[in-house]
Amino acid sequence: MTRRTKIVCTLGPAVDSKAKIRALIDAGMNVARINCSHGDWATRRRWIKWINELQPKVSPIGILVDLQGPKFRLGTVEGGSMKLKQGGKLTIAHTGDAQITIPDLKVWDAIRVGDRMLLGDGEVEIAVVKKKGKSFLCKANCGGTVRSRQGLTLVGKSFTAPPLTAKDKADLKEALDSGADFIALSYVRRAKDIDKLRNLIDKRDPRVKTVAKVETREALDDIDNIARSADVVMVARGDLGLQMAFDEVPVAQKRIIKACNAAATPVITATQMLESMIHAPRPTRAEASDVANAILDGTDAVMLSGETAMGEYPVASVRTMAGIALKTEPLINYQLALHDEGKTAQQDTETDSVAHAAVGIATTMGTRSILTSSTSGMTPRLVSRYRPQAQILCVAWTETTQRQLSVVWGVESALAKLPKGTDAAVAATVKTFLRLKRIKRREKVVVTAGVPAGVPGNTNMILVLNV
Ligand code: PGA
Ligand code: MN
Repeated sequence: MTRRTKIVCTLGPAVDSKAKIRALIDAGMNVARINCSHGDWATRRRWIKWINELQPKVSPIGILVDLQGPKFRLGTVEGGSMKLKQGGKLTIAHTGDAQITIPDLKVWDAIRVGDRMLLGDGEVEIAVVKKKGKSFLCKANCGGTVRSRQGLTLVGKSFTAPPLTAKDKADLKEALDSGADFIALSYVRRAKDIDKLRNLIDKRDPRVKTVAKVETREALDDIDNIARSADVVMVARGDLGLQMAFDEVPVAQKRIIKACNAAATPVITATQMLESMIHAPRPTRAEASDVANAILDGTDAVMLSGETAMGEYPVASVRTMAGIALKTEPLINYQLALHDEGKTAQQDTETDSVAHAAVGIATTMGTRSILTSSTSGMTPRLVSRYRPQAQILCVAWTETTQRQLSVVWGVESALAKLPKGTDAAVAATVKTFLRLKRIKRREKVVVTAGVPAGVPGNTNMILVLNV
């Protein structure tokens, strides 16, 4: 069996060599995530170059550049990092001499005695106890290590900020110049934020896809619109668990995934999935269950962050994730996925009806493969959302579309040149996967096609072929 769930790996110092990137690909990486919150473009360009040199012909790796967004951070901490004991005292200031500085004036001005601040992914919690001249005296409610430039959340307070910072715009330009397939926007609040990113991308390269990171309460409240506006959605559980109580995250995850499945928008479940593997060769049982449950919730992809970016076991983390996915996928309720009434055609009624019927025919006949071809990626995406048990084999007519299928559940992709005419397109699709040995001679397969061929959103035929 081939794995259906896709794996997103965040790159970082732990995998900063061509050999390591190759090992990630061999272990099952489908999408490489480049996080603009750390590092520089010289390093990122080197990673992209290595990926392009190693690119597999079937199901190549998608490149996702993640913009930092208006994230609030600490300034520098004395000595780079400090250990804070439970109940330990410390002073914070806007600038100058303090154990911790908070350089953003908006955040600084909003701090009041009695406030709580969360650092990083919320490991450290600080209570503001007393004003002391130009600084505040604080106490650690929850101790831990505090690092320079760590993320900072002021509990219960949200700040208006433009969806893209100056740094995001500069990173966006670099990303588009470097051939990114996906651009992720952090701290999305409403569908309009994604429209803004879309407009900026369209000026340079309209083929590039948007990823909405859902990590604020506002975004969760607007999830149905966001799922329709964005090309891909990420359940960004790290910040989500800071913006709301962490015990609300599991329910939020299910709600986001459901909205995305209904809109046929691929969804990535992210953050802390195998967190303990940053320092250990084996995950906890809870982490293994978390990956499995995200798959059963209906996620298209699962993501690794620190595990692959700066952990001690990056390759083992990918292998572990792939193993859990393989063991879990037989349990997906395929019948329910096909008949779920929540999945109404919102994209393209014609293509969606064909996709639904193709999965129905493959299910009734028990065929092993559904063959699709696609200019824009829409047909395989619509077939995928009905979660067929049959493998989804897609011939993409462009390299960009092929790489962008890397995030779509269950789709294996090959590249071919679009021939003239529908019959020739069907023949090219069948031949491509015969040559790749993904189908056999005399095997019955279900094929989707379009007349005329090669027009995006024009899938209007189903064939049952004896290869
Ligand atoms: P980040 O996004 O890693 O860029 O913060 C993911 C998350 O918040 O979970
Ligand atoms: Mn985040």
